[in-house]
Parts: sequence; structure tokens; C-alpha cells
Amino acid sequence: MFTVAVIGAGPAGLMAAETLANQGVSVHVYEAKPSVGRKFLMAGRGGLNITHAEPSEHFVTRYGARAAEMSGILQQFDASALRQWVQGLGIDTFVGSSGRVFPQEMKAAPLLRAWLHRLREQGVQFSMRHRWLGWDAAQQLRFETPAGEISVKPDATVLALGGGSWAALGSDGAWWPWLAAQGVALSPLLPSNGGFETHWSEHFIEQCAGEPLKTATFRVGDSAPVRGECMVTLHGLEGGAIYTLSAQLRDQMMAHGQVTLYLDLLPDYSAERVLAEVAHPRGTRSMSSHLRGRLGLHGVRAALLRECLSAETFKDPAKLAAGIKALPIVLHACRPIDEAISTAGGVQFEGLTEGLMLKNQAGTFCAGEMLDWEAPTGGYLINGSMASGRAAALGVLQWLAAREQAC
Ligand SMILES: Cc1cc2nc3c(=O)[nH]c(=O)nc-3n(C[C@H](O)[C@H](O)[C@H](O)COP(=O)(O)OP(=O)(O)OC[C@H]3O[C@@H](n4cnc5c(N)ncnc54)[C@H](O)[C@@H]3O)c2cc1C
Repeated sequence: MFTVAVIGAGPAGLMAAETLANQGVSVHVYEAKPSVGRKFLMAGRGGLNITHAEPSEHFVTRYGARAAEMSGILQQFDASALRQWVQGLGIDTFVGSSGRVFPQEMKAAPLLRAWLHRLREQGVQFSMRHRWLGWDAAQQLRFETPAGEISVKPDATVLALGGGSWAALGSDGAWWPWLAAQGVALSPLLPSNGGFETHWSEHFIEQCAGEPLKTATFRVGDSAPVRGECMVTLHGLEGGAIYTLSAQLRDQMMAHGQVTLYLDLLPDYSAERVLAEVAHPRGTRSMSSHLRGRLGLHGVRAALLRECLSAETFKDPAKLAAGIKALPIVLHACRPIDEAISTAGGVQFEGLTEGLMLKNQAGTFCAGEMLDWEAPTGGYLINGSMASGRAAALGVLQWLAAREQAC
């Protein structure tokens, strides 16, 4: 019987373990932390958005520059396969109003418990507090364990070590230099689905930090406007709509040193209507109460206008109306990678076979967020991680079968 080491017990590693164990392979899961799936459990805190119900042709576009590679991987385990798989654990799923799919109870813990139970019944062995340290001179896997360092030589290995954010939950990106030293083609790890920094005034921070900005549209460059919400933070902006645009914002910032985000504070009003209301005679009313009265602009929206537009602009109705429909906010930095929901970068597909095996490290396969893809929030991250875990396991099975035949 073949033995396969799966390193990393997040959704990608566990899915690889299950796929292999189902085919009669002896699977040993090694995990650095004392327990499995810590990021997965964290993902379940605000409601585990496990996949998305939109048509598959839209779904794959969420993987941006890596849509082609991820499309092949997702064919093995798409959104409906994932929902059936959850059902197989005895948990129903439902589609929320935005198309996001959740387990019935919204939580990750019951799902993870049922999954672990099934994996153990399938004979999967788990070694917690086993931190992989790379390879030794004999190409054995090195682990730091509570009992000291050990070396292991399985028939194949699946690396499912996660990205480089929320290091306290296990995915610390420490593997990056080790794989780089082996000559593996890697892209730098970068924050994805994270916040951005701007220079707010002290006054604005006191007034608005921690406030949500609801129902605006957000645009960067020529991108299609994204309708959604965000939060004003001490440092800048974060939240759903910002995450959706985070890859474009980050890439433009890296190219130009800064990037301008445009907010439409009144997406349901035409530019003509806004101009007409702003230009309407206001008598002795202040501009603030005029905007509040005629356009409902108050609170964080009104404060943002004051923060981002000059006093001169406030005196010119045409410019002010244009600012309300396209408020420029200059962002100059990404928040640190450790705060991001996920990471971009990692093991490049060009350095992998179709079965996700490292071309220059036969028998070592990679899966999950450590691969060089990114996607917005919405269930695409977990679905992509699990699908690639399954694809790597299928790659292992094919490779082992070919090796056996050759012997
Ligand atoms: C706050 C938050 C909310 C999120 N919400 C959602 C959501 O609702 N929907 C969604 O799709 N995604 C969500 N995500 C993202 C999602 O959780 C991740 O994309 C997913 O967990 C990645 O799976 P993975 O298996 O590739 O990596 P991980 O889940 O990060 O697992 C990697 C595992 O490898 C282990 N490991 C790392 N290095 C070593 C080593 N050297 N030796 C041994 N073990 C090691 C780690 O301890 C970890 O257990 C959220 C993330 C965060 C932080």
C-alpha cells in the first residue's frame, strides 16, 4: 500500500487526504498547530461562506488572471459538487440573497467535526504539532515535533500549507523560502482581500473611524463599478467592496506608488439629478444642511465629502456634484499581509504539472491557497482550496499508478 504525507490540515489538505483515503491509500496528515482547520474555523465566525451559486461561467472569472488554470481544477469539484459533499456530511446548505452559499447553521465547527470523524473512519492518521521544516539531504521530509526532529519518506507528498495571512492560525508562509531554495517557481506572497491605507485627518478619524459606509459604488481605473459596503478604519478603508477590488487596487498601487479609488456616494441618483439638487437655491442654509435636506447626505458620507474635496470645490455646484458621484480617495498602501483574508502569489502554475506536482520535485504536489491564484470573498477561496486539494490528490493517484506500472 502506498503512503502519502499531506502537510497542512486546512480545507485543501483535508480534501486531498479524503480523496486519497477513498482510493485505499495510507494517508498521514501532518499539522504544525495543535488542532486542524484553524483558519477554516475562523472563516466560519461570521458565517461560513463555502461557495457561490452563480453560473459556472461567471464563477471561474472570479479567479482573474488564473481563471484558465482554476477552471480545470474546479471541473473536478465545482460549487454543486461541493454542496453535495457538504450534504454527504449530513449538513444542508442554503443560498443567501447575494448567491453566497452557507451551511444551514452558518458555522464551520459542525462541518469540520463531521468531516474529521469521517476521515478517521477512513483510516487517515493525524499528527498534530508536527511542523514541516523542508527536506533533508536525502530528500526526506523534516518535521519539528514535541519529541524532537523526525524525518519521513512517504511515496508522495501533498503540501497544503496555506498562504501567508493570519499567521497565528498556522498559515505563516514560512514555506516560501524553502521552496524557493529548491528552485520552485514562486510569486511573492501579497495581501488579497485586505484593507488599504489613506491619510485621514485627525478630525475625520475621530468622527468616522469604525463607521460603515453603506450602499455606494466603488471604482478603480476603468473597472466596472462595484456596488457594496465598506468600513472606514483608522488607517483607511476595508470591507466587502474594497476586497472585491483589492487585486486591482493592489496591483495599480504597486505599479504607481498610489491609486485613486472613486466612490459614487449616491448610486441611485443620476449625475443630472445630483447637479440639479446641489445647484438648487439654498437661501441662508449652510451647504451641509442643503446637501442633507435635498440629497440625504449626512453622517459618514457628508464627512467623506468634506475630507476628500477642497473648500473651493464646495463653492462650485458642478464640481461638488461631480465629487458626490465620483469622490476620489487616494490610497497609498495596503494594510499588512497578516491582516488580509487571503493571499495572492505562491507556487506558480507554470512550475506544476497538470496534476499539481512540482516539475522539479517529483512526487511533491501542492494545493490550496499556497498556489498562485487569488479570488474575492464570496466562497471562491474555500471552493478553490478544496478543489485544488482534490486535484492534487488525483494527481498523486495518477503518478503513483504510473510509477507502479513502470516497475
Ligand atoms: C477571517 C477570515 C474569514 C474568511 N472567510 C472565508 C469565507 O467565508 N469563505 C471563503 O471561501 N474563504 C474564507 N476565508 C479564506 C479561507 O479560510 C482560506 O482561503 C482557506 O482556509 C485556505 O485553505 P488552505 O487549506 O489552502 O490553507 P489554510 O486553511 O491556511 O491551512 C493551511 C494549514 O497548513 C498548516 N501549516 C502551515 N505551515 C505548516 C508547516 N510548516 N508544517 C505543518 N503545517 C503547516 C497551517 O497550520 C494550516 O492548518 C477566510 C479567511 C479569514 C482569515
